[in-house]
Amino acid sequence: MNLDLDISDILPSTATRHHTRPPLMRLTCAGKRYDQGSGSRDALHSVDLDIQRGEFAAIVGPSGSGKSALIKMLGLLEAPTSGGYRFQGVPEQSLSADQRLWLRRRFFGFVPQEFNLLRSTSLLGNVALPLMYRGLSAERCQTAAMRALCLVGLGDCGHKMPDELGSIAHGKAGIARALVSNPSVLLVDQASRTSDQPLCADIGTLLRTLNTEHLITVVLVTRNDSASAWAQRTVSLNGGAVERDIRRSAASALH
Ligand code: ADP
Ligand code: MG
Repeated sequence: MNLDLDISDILPSTATRHHTRPPLMRLTCAGKRYDQGSGSRDALHSVDLDIQRGEFAAIVGPSGSGKSALIKMLGLLEAPTSGGYRFQGVPEQSLSADQRLWLRRRFFGFVPQEFNLLRSTSLLGNVALPLMYRGLSAERCQTAAMRALCLVGLGDCGHKMPDELGSIAHGKAGIARALVSNPSVLLVDQASRTSDQPLCADIGTLLRTLNTEHLITVVLVTRNDSASAWAQRTVSLNGGAVERDIRRSAASALH
């Protein structure tokens, strides 16, 4: 799979259809209903949300408020069951499974709630893994993995095994693994070991640096609102709906 292509190469009509640039991500009256054995559950309802290129947005809310469902929709991992989602103006319903996969790989880095590092593999090997799965050459995988480890400040730790490192380094390695394909959007689901832990300053500062210096759009999910110290915008979810959406000037955010 060629990671160097752009969205207009795979979906040519999108380049010409819009006179003005659409938002990077746009949810319109989006809902997510999960069918369960005993019935169904609405994880999200009627969510209207635009995320612009270059933003650092925190999604906060109590457990079960729909944060993971939201971030999975933004990253094209799951589709809304009502309303719509457009990525760079492209309606997600119009995408084939291959196009969806290509867009995910080309544009998104996803840091899941559990970092899931392989204990028997070095940090470099762990970070290289997504590219290995895509069949890239070992040399290209190693170079990209080392670059990603340097970006998160773990350039000296590539040879170490996960068990030799603490929880903050694990978090950073999870972020490095998401950065290895050079994404323009980083989606981070809960960047702390336990959901009650506040976002640690090291990770908050790292995400802020990736956003301001490397121009990566960041969407960070946390259960508590400690992330608002680093993000420019805090979207609060409650019961699957957006309760508040607060932006503040870049000058007041911590660096
Ligand atoms: P949060 O990340 O804020 O804790 P989630 O987005 O994981 O919340 O979940 C929102 C609601 O949707 C919860 O009530 C959860 O039980 C339900 N839910 C999430 N994923 C599934 C699923 N795969 N199947 C059924 N229900 C789900
Ligand atoms: Mg969650």
